[in-house]
Amino acid sequence: MTTASKNVYVFGAARTDGDAKMKNLLGGKGANLAEMCRLGIAVPPGFTISTEVCTVYTDQGQDAVLKLIDAEVRAGVAFVEQEMGKKFGDSSDPLLLSVRSGSRASMPGMMDTILNLGLNDEAVEGLARKANNERFAWDSYRRFIQMYGDVVMGLKPVSKEDHDPFEVVIDMVKEKKGVQLDTELDTADLKELVTRFKGLIRARVGREFPSDPWEQLWGSVMAVFQSWNNDRAKVYRELNDIPESWGTAVNVQAMVFGNLGENSGTGVAFTRDASTGEDLFNGEFLINAQGEDVVAGIRTPQQVTLEGSRRWAQLAMVSEDERRARFPSLEELMPEIYQQLLQAETKLERHYADMQDVEFTIQEGRLWMLQTRNGKRTGAAMVRIAMEMLRQGIIDEKEALHRVNPERLNELLHPVFDPVAIRKARVIAHGLPASPGAATGQIVFFADEAEEWVRKGRTVILVRQETSPEDLRGMSVAKGILTARGGMTSHAAVVARGMGKCCVSGAGAVHVDYHARTMSVGSETWKEGEWLSLDGSTGDVFLGQVPTKEAELTGDFGALMELADRHRRLGVRANADTPEDAKVARNFGAKGIGLCRTEHMFFEGDRIKAVREMILADDETGRRKALAKLLPMQRGDFEGLFREMNGLAVTIRLLDPPLHEFVPHDEENQRVMAHEMNLPLAVIKMRVEDLHEFNPMMGHRGCRLGITYPEITEMQTRAILEAGLNMKAKGIEVKAEIMIPLVGTVREFNAQAKVIRATAAAVFAERGEKLDYMLGTMIETPRAALIADSIGQQAEFFSFGTNDLTQMTMGFSRDDAGKFLPSYLKDGMYERDPFQSIDQKGVGLLVRMAVEKGRSVRPGIKLGVCGEHGGDPASVDFFHRAGLDYVSCSPFRVPIARLAAAQAAIDNPA
Ligand code: PEP
Ligand code: MG
Repeated sequence: MTTASKNVYVFGAARTDGDAKMKNLLGGKGANLAEMCRLGIAVPPGFTISTEVCTVYTDQGQDAVLKLIDAEVRAGVAFVEQEMGKKFGDSSDPLLLSVRSGSRASMPGMMDTILNLGLNDEAVEGLARKANNERFAWDSYRRFIQMYGDVVMGLKPVSKEDHDPFEVVIDMVKEKKGVQLDTELDTADLKELVTRFKGLIRARVGREFPSDPWEQLWGSVMAVFQSWNNDRAKVYRELNDIPESWGTAVNVQAMVFGNLGENSGTGVAFTRDASTGEDLFNGEFLINAQGEDVVAGIRTPQQVTLEGSRRWAQLAMVSEDERRARFPSLEELMPEIYQQLLQAETKLERHYADMQDVEFTIQEGRLWMLQTRNGKRTGAAMVRIAMEMLRQGIIDEKEALHRVNPERLNELLHPVFDPVAIRKARVIAHGLPASPGAATGQIVFFADEAEEWVRKGRTVILVRQETSPEDLRGMSVAKGILTARGGMTSHAAVVARGMGKCCVSGAGAVHVDYHARTMSVGSETWKEGEWLSLDGSTGDVFLGQVPTKEAELTGDFGALMELADRHRRLGVRANADTPEDAKVARNFGAKGIGLCRTEHMFFEGDRIKAVREMILADDETGRRKALAKLLPMQRGDFEGLFREMNGLAVTIRLLDPPLHEFVPHDEENQRVMAHEMNLPLAVIKMRVEDLHEFNPMMGHRGCRLGITYPEITEMQTRAILEAGLNMKAKGIEVKAEIMIPLVGTVREFNAQAKVIRATAAAVFAERGEKLDYMLGTMIETPRAALIADSIGQQAEFFSFGTNDLTQMTMGFSRDDAGKFLPSYLKDGMYERDPFQSIDQKGVGLLVRMAVEKGRSVRPGIKLGVCGEHGGDPASVDFFHRAGLDYVSCSPFRVPIARLAAAQAAIDNPA
């Protein structure tokens, strides 16, 4: 391992070694502290020990660290002494230090912090005299011993009651005095606490609390390095993909105090509103307090700005007189300090060209900035801040597009839970965040009952072990869907996303008992009709009715989308099966339909009867009879789609799923069917049995259906083309694209193409009019990708069905992968769920190969993707690089894909 010769970087008024660009070496906090100093902002001076030293600690231990940085740390302390005009370890006016961790990526609360370092029995007296505040000095001392005892000396609870051993002692002292637990302690009590704390450490740890400041400092530095490897930090790193090798830096900084009286205080502020994005400086502070008091939330903080204070008072129903008297803003209370803070925040925001989250302390009328970082914000704030900063000339178009995380647009598209109510709600289970949104309703277990309940004016959550196409109507009327099984591309998940409906799938802890009409988690059980709330963005399942808020689409959102459209090359279409979906898609900016799954139309109303009749017919004549009933219905559907998409392409896929999905599997419904078809139950049973397949996803489906039953292809082609001609007659511009699913050989394609072309010729002859249409195929079997050049000679377009292509390439089924994928992901077997984000190296290679082969034989071939990956930002980036013409995704993901496509174009300039 090579280590830079410099390991310690000072920052202060006289000199600053680091800057904001050195995050890797100094951690985010250290780099920003240095940058603030460079900007001339008052920051308590200090020094940062680099992240490389953390690696030395991990690899070689503390002696090696000591040897490496001893001299540099001593020089660092001397620098701080010089800046502050105080001496470390001095007993009359001691310099006190804070020691904090700071990694490259923010890891809030994961590692340790020590404050007031440098105090001992002598120094505390000096501090008391100097501050002219004995209580403050002893309170600082007891806080220090408490933190040091916990973090550095490792004093741990011995039992559950002993949750925080020092707090237990504090409560004991209060009880002994006979005062309430929230009473503030006086100096004598604090002195007693110091003695007791030291005794506790001696007794439990077997060592004395160190009075030597240097011993305290080294102990703290090593403890911070050690905390890089504590369990909390490890788990956090795992969850957030932070490499262990990064290490943490250690920031040693002069202490400043916000608790030195009425002209001291501490607070947190944001340069813009983190929840709405409004360009309004805002924040909270407490007079005579330490940072931890603000976080603890015991006292009501006051607002930094007058405007914020007025808004707060309105919400809290506090009169203007009371506000001024009891909760004045910093702007009113300390106008000069406020002006300094305002200047600092303006300077910082301009400098970083992003919304900042700052921490500050006022010590006896002097303002110190303790931290600045890019502020976390909601999706709505992300959009507004990006667009406003663009208009304000702070960032350019490309940067504005990059400032918004496409996934976060979800928050703007679906209803959300009331943020206050959600905090009080009880989570009873957790599943996959399959389709975003917030839904609340009464539990029902059957799709038909969902419909019935909704007809009666109730709102329902459909709870199923898993869903199937039969449940479609029930799903469409439910507010949300919860399934116990199934992954991100399970039926429920895909359909729900398509509908823009909230869905939590694969909540493994939920057990559904259809017979008893109950669901249970562990030993608790809930009945049909009880209230449940689902958060489809987090996968949380809440008990009871949590109020929701409708999503608001602001003008900035529209402007961001227009901006994205100007930068992207990839087209964005939607997967839509009904005119209603098509309308939503168009509103969200889809430039066409990339996939209409025609089978979804087969479940509507009475159609399912005709479909079953067709499936159960003994011969072609019987099938044709049933298909004739379906023809006008399908034609009507397609007319609706063409009408909605006037002028835009509509890709219609021929029947794809295995037929057994359409027939009832329970005897009750088989009986109904037998009655309707006037057939004996046994015949129905036999036919259903005939349709059984061991692996239906790899069975009789896709073009295999159309090849064995060409009359189905005939009917569907006729319905598409007649619908097109009908709409054309009404002045609608029809752009029909007929797509053959699951092709694996050229002969399969040709066989279906022959039926389609012959049917087209017949329809055109009957009508005496033609309709332009394109004939293409899905590329969704690995073989199709491998022979894409041969297929490309016949097909006018390819649409990659990456759902099937993934399952067939990986060799696991999208419906069963839920059993092992979660643990695979946890173990790092795959970085991401390959059904969610395309496996670029494997499945992606097939896509690239097919693109190249397709273009080699037909340069202008139209290439798109209609698998779920079309709405995943990382996959969109890949499809851009692979040279596709468009992606197609659920209507509610269209804005996400538009933005992701723009980011891909910016990141990969031609
Ligand atoms: C696919 O396989 O990617 C696809 C879009 O088709 P389906 O999900 O309907 O199989
Ligand atoms: Mg498919």
